[in-house]
This record gives sequence, structure tokens and C-alpha cells, in this order.
Amino acid sequence: MATYDYDLFVIGGGSGGVRAARLSACYGARVALAEERYLGGTCVNVGCIPKKLLVYASHYSAHFEDAAGFGWTVGERHFDWPTLIAHKNAEIARLNGVYRKLLEEAGVEIISARAILRDAHSVEVAGRTAKAERILIATGGWPMVPEIPGKEHAITSNEAFFLPRLPARVAIVGGGYIACEFAGIFHGMGSRVVQLYRGPLFLRGFDGDVRKTLAEEMRKKAIELRFNVEIAGIEKTRAGLVASLTTDERLEVDLVLFATGRAPSTRGLGLEGAGVALNAKGAIVVDAYSRSSVENIYAVGDVTDRINLTPVAIAEGQAFAETVYNDNPTKPDHAGVPSAVFSDPELATVGLSEEAARRAFGAVDVYRTSFRPLKHALSGRSERTMMKLVVERAGGKVVGAHMVGEGAAEIIQGLAVALKAGATKRDFDRTIGIHPTAAEEFVTMRTPLSEPEKQAAE
Ligand SMILES: Cc1cc2nc3c(=O)[nH]c(=O)nc-3n(C[C@H](O)[C@H](O)[C@H](O)COP(=O)(O)OP(=O)(O)OC[C@H]3O[C@@H](n4cnc5c(N)ncnc54)[C@H](O)[C@@H]3O)c2cc1C
Repeated sequence: MATYDYDLFVIGGGSGGVRAARLSACYGARVALAEERYLGGTCVNVGCIPKKLLVYASHYSAHFEDAAGFGWTVGERHFDWPTLIAHKNAEIARLNGVYRKLLEEAGVEIISARAILRDAHSVEVAGRTAKAERILIATGGWPMVPEIPGKEHAITSNEAFFLPRLPARVAIVGGGYIACEFAGIFHGMGSRVVQLYRGPLFLRGFDGDVRKTLAEEMRKKAIELRFNVEIAGIEKTRAGLVASLTTDERLEVDLVLFATGRAPSTRGLGLEGAGVALNAKGAIVVDAYSRSSVENIYAVGDVTDRINLTPVAIAEGQAFAETVYNDNPTKPDHAGVPSAVFSDPELATVGLSEEAARRAFGAVDVYRTSFRPLKHALSGRSERTMMKLVVERAGGKVVGAHMVGEGAAEIIQGLAVALKAGATKRDFDRTIGIHPTAAEEFVTMRTPLSEPEKQAAE
């Protein structure tokens, strides 16, 4: 019988890897985890957490502006980027420590080094070869930057969190959630922001009304949105950067941030040699239990390119440990996963977009409302909130809930439970609202849009 140094070797100490390692160790497995960069992975270090802290910081400019309508006089305002970054770094360092402690207390051996596979049971790490019965790949993803002349002058989200100073003029390239979020962050801090996207409208895959509403609201705030355009090259000048666009225009900025997608981190890991199958995008192909094409090698999180969100990576890591070390076969559930974009304004969504629901069910009823939130009656701000329910007509089940506006993420998280439980529109109708809130609109929309109204919106 082969002898192994470990029952489980986890490569990658991010959201998925940490959960899987910790739980497996709690179930009695001898576990090692290799992390080459930072414990907590993308989410804690260069993703969700620092992003949300920057989003909070960016909201203060609007809070100060809105205060006058409520009788407040706000004194001289000054924003200091290095202070924010220093405070953010201190909080992240604290979280790194929390992750280390959680793993150590569970008995996981942490190896601070890059690990690569030698074969299906061997990992090369920190100058030695470790043998493990099972290996879990949880190496996450990495930003992709297009191959254009001068790309070295641009940054990605990774570097945006550590900029030495706030740039005055920022070009953000991309139409995904990360691009939209950084547009709001830099705008709120006081930078002049232009967001460029090669397609006709950003946030592909989200509900059409959500995409249009966000674009309108961002433009109202003077965030410049430019669609059907790309950056073809970047030159460094004495005054900053000059980006040449595919429309032959030249854009002078101080910072170009590419948020043009992320690729699974599978390069140079030795996966092919070990026989692990990858798909065309380089993601590890796994079955419903996160098992790869090699029997004892599993993968969770962004490296599998299923739904690339932290709670999903955690759920996959948890399901792996349950299945393999707790004799409790568990498939991670990828249905009805809610998500948010912490843009300005924020948006959140659960279930199907109207477009996807039509494809899935044919006949759907759509309930939509757009209103100026009570707060802005006094602040004077013209921002509107949009809410929408998509209902499958035959069974009356609510199959999608979408919102653009303050508090969207907090509200949609609650509705995600209702949708998961199979709530019908009738269940929404017989639920009493909390007054006065924006959320109560979700239980008071009574009349579906008529066909002409829907067509007019298209
Ligand atoms: C800017 C940004 C904002 C985001 N915001 C949100 C959000 O608001 N909400 C949300 O749910 N998700 C968000 N995400 C996505 C979220 O961060 C990821 O889905 C999540 O971190 C995936 O977890 P993971 O365990 O798969 O990988 P990761 O967290 O990326 O962890 C992988 C780890 O593996 C390590 N590693 C890689 N290769 C090796 C190797 N060979 N040896 C040793 N270690 C290795 C890496 O250093 C990394 O620490 C955001 C992402 C970004 C970039």
C-alpha cells in the first residue's frame, strides 16, 4: 500500500481552498495547504473585501452633497487616498491573520510557497516533493489584458488597490462587474472617469432593464460611458497616458485600468502532465462533485470557471469536504445564485433575466417599477431606483428579481431565499411590506407590464 505524507494537499489558499482544507481537517484528514501569495486569496486581498471598502469610501462625496437638503452644513472636504489605502491594508492584514489562525486551529499545515503537480499523487513545493492521497486545485483566476502596444502602461484590478495616489483622469476598459465597480469607485473619489466597452451595452447576461437603468444612472452622475469602442494602443507621455481608440480618437488620461476578464490559473501547474483535462478556456473540467478527469484530483472555485463568486467557491469547497471526508455526498448547488454589482448605483439580481426567462418558459409576466427614493425628495438628487420581478405565467412562480438602487444587494439577498423556496407571485402579494422602504415595492407591484409597454422598453 502506498504511503502518503498527507491525505489531502490543497493548492491555493483562497475562498475555496481554505474552506475545503479547514473542513477536511476538522473531519480528521491530514491536510497541507500551499499558498504562494496571500492567505484568503483574491476575495480578501484584491477582490470583494478591499473593493467594498473602496466603494464605501467613494459614497461619502454623494453623502456630503446630499446633506444640505437635510439641513446639514458640511465643512471643507478633503479626500486622502493614501490614508484610505493604509487603513484598507491594515484591515486586510488582520483578515490574513484570521485565515491563518482558522487553518492552524483546524490542524492544517500551511506552506507559503508555489506548488505544482509532478504526478497524480505528488506535489513539488518549497524544494521538496510531497505525496498526497488526494489533491485539490483551488488556484483561482488572474486578470487578462489584451495584447495591444503599450499594455505595460495599463494596470488591472490587482494594482488598483495599491495605487500610490488617486489619478485625476481614469479610463476603465471592460463591460463586466469589476469595470462598472471601479468606474463608480474612482468617480466617487473625484476622478474623471470614462468607461469603454467593445459591445453595445455593458453587463452582458444581466437583465436588459437593469443594464439600461445602470447606464442611464451612471451617465447622470457624469461617468462617461462609451460603447462599441476599444483601446488599440497606449503611449506614455510627459503629461500622462494617451490611449488611441478604435474610433481613431485619442484619449488623454492618467490611468488605464483593464477589467477585461479573468482566466483560470492553470498555467504551469503540471496539470496536463498529470492527465487533468482542461476546457478551451483553460479551466479544469470537473463533475458535479468537483472531481477532475483524474480520480483523486479535485478542483473548486474560479479555476473551474463555473460561477466565479466567493460564496460559490466556498460552497464548492464545503461540498468537497462533505463528500470526501464526511461520507456525505454533496453536490454544490449552482441554481439561483444571487449576485450584486457594487456600482454607483448598486445593482443586484437573482434568478433569470427577462430575456432568459422568455427563452426558458415562453410566456412570462413582468412587473416593473421605477421611482425616486424618498431620501432624494430632500437631497434633490434625481437618481431613480428600478425594481423588477419576472414571473413564469403558467405556474405563477417568480423566476427572477432584479434591482438597481441603494440597498439592492441587501434586499435581493432576502428575496433569494424566497425564490429558492419556490415563491409564487401570489406569495409576494400576500406578504406585507415594511413601510417606508424601497424593498416594500417588491411586494406591492400588482399590474404586469402590457405587451406594448414591454416592447416600448426594448
Ligand atoms: C476586483 C474583484 C472583485 C470581486 N468582487 C467580488 C464580490 O463582490 N463578490 C464575490 O462573491 N466575488 C467577487 N470576486 C470574485 C472572488 O474574488 C472569487 O470568485 C473568489 O476569490 C474565488 O475563490 P477561489 O478560491 O477560487 O480563488 P482565489 O480566491 O483566487 O484563490 C486562489 C489562491 O491560489 C493561490 N495560488 C494560485 N496558484 C498557486 C500555486 N501554484 N501554488 C500556491 N498557491 C497558488 C493564489 O495566490 C490565490 O491566493 C471579485 C474578484 C475580483 C478580482
